[in-house]
Amino acid sequence: MNNQDPVLSRPCSGNLDGILGIKFPVLDDGFIRVIDYMGTDTSIVQAARVSYGAGTRKVSEDRSLIRYLLRHRHTTPFEMCELKLHVRVPMDCWRQWIRHRTASVNEYSTRYSVAVDACRTTRPDEWRTQSEVNKQGSGEAISAELGEKLSAAEAELHALSKEVYTNRLDCGVAREQARKDLPLSTYTEAYWKVDLHNLLHFLALRMDAHAQYEIREYAQTIGQEIVSKWVPYTWEAFLEYRFNGFYLSDSETRVISLLSQGKTAEAKQLLFEINWLEDKHAAIKESREATEFKEKLQKMGIPVPW
Ligand SMILES: Cc1cc2nc3c(=O)[nH]c(=O)nc-3n(C[C@H](O)[C@H](O)[C@H](O)COP(=O)(O)OP(=O)(O)OC[C@H]3O[C@@H](n4cnc5c(N)ncnc54)[C@H](O)[C@@H]3O)c2cc1C
Repeated sequence: MNNQDPVLSRPCSGNLDGILGIKFPVLDDGFIRVIDYMGTDTSIVQAARVSYGAGTRKVSEDRSLIRYLLRHRHTTPFEMCELKLHVRVPMDCWRQWIRHRTASVNEYSTRYSVAVDACRTTRPDEWRTQSEVNKQGSGEAISAELGEKLSAAEAELHALSKEVYTNRLDCGVAREQARKDLPLSTYTEAYWKVDLHNLLHFLALRMDAHAQYEIREYAQTIGQEIVSKWVPYTWEAFLEYRFNGFYLSDSETRVISLLSQGKTAEAKQLLFEINWLEDKHAAIKESREATEFKEKLQKMGIPVPW
């Protein structure tokens, strides 16, 4: 008599198996490739139902459950899936990436080995002006003429830093000290392992238009080339409820309710009462919350009441 649980089959993603180890290029010399993974959409459903083996539910029910879990911000079922990537990324971008504390990381050591001999270079048409509205962001493209000069100066700097670094190594300086003046544009490589819940959090922040262009390129590649193929139902729900959707706060809901009843003056009054709008020298000053609310109204095609 066999009283063991039924034999389990390992959940596999044919799509992801098909791209294991394949390098997806990012920026001028970076890449991302999948080294390993655990779980699929099925594992999320399985964990949520704490059931064994192939489910008896229909595929459409699995999709509904995943959408429900994501919509209601359940987390642990998504932590049942893991992804291990090999990434090659410029150090300035990596510095933003590594702030995500919930991943396991092993990075190429420039104490142990000679630094990666590649820097992120910027084409003349890739330079961006400082944004006037966002202190952390970029604005328009720099003119082609200026771009040429900036790229030429960048090439000079990279060549000089490489020469100084190589010379230090040739003089017998320790690698850990010789590296100290390498530019932040130097590429580094790492293994980065993260569960799906925290990966989606990373993607939500780093695919967003407020994230820096360079890390956005990596996040979009991970999302579109890897996650969408690995866990298609989760990816679809993520785009629907998290990335392309938005929440409405209590105040926002009340303002929209007034607007839908045609009470525009009352809606505006409410925005002043909660200090989202302020009268400043006969002009209306928007708080950050008001600006973000305005973007939501515009997205919904609702006229902004101020
Ligand atoms: C557009 C943008 C601008 C930014 N600007 C700046 C900046 O100017 N300066 C700056 O320093 N950083 C900046 N950051 C980095 C940002 O503040 C976060 O450090 C980074 O995005 C990682 O987010 P996280 O902590 O939520 O993610 P993770 O570290 O991946 O953590 C995921 C979640 O796990 C939980 N968690 C993880 N560790 C702990 C813990 N120890 N205790 C409790 N809960 C934990 C939290 O719920 C957290 O949200 C910026 C990020 C973005 C996207």
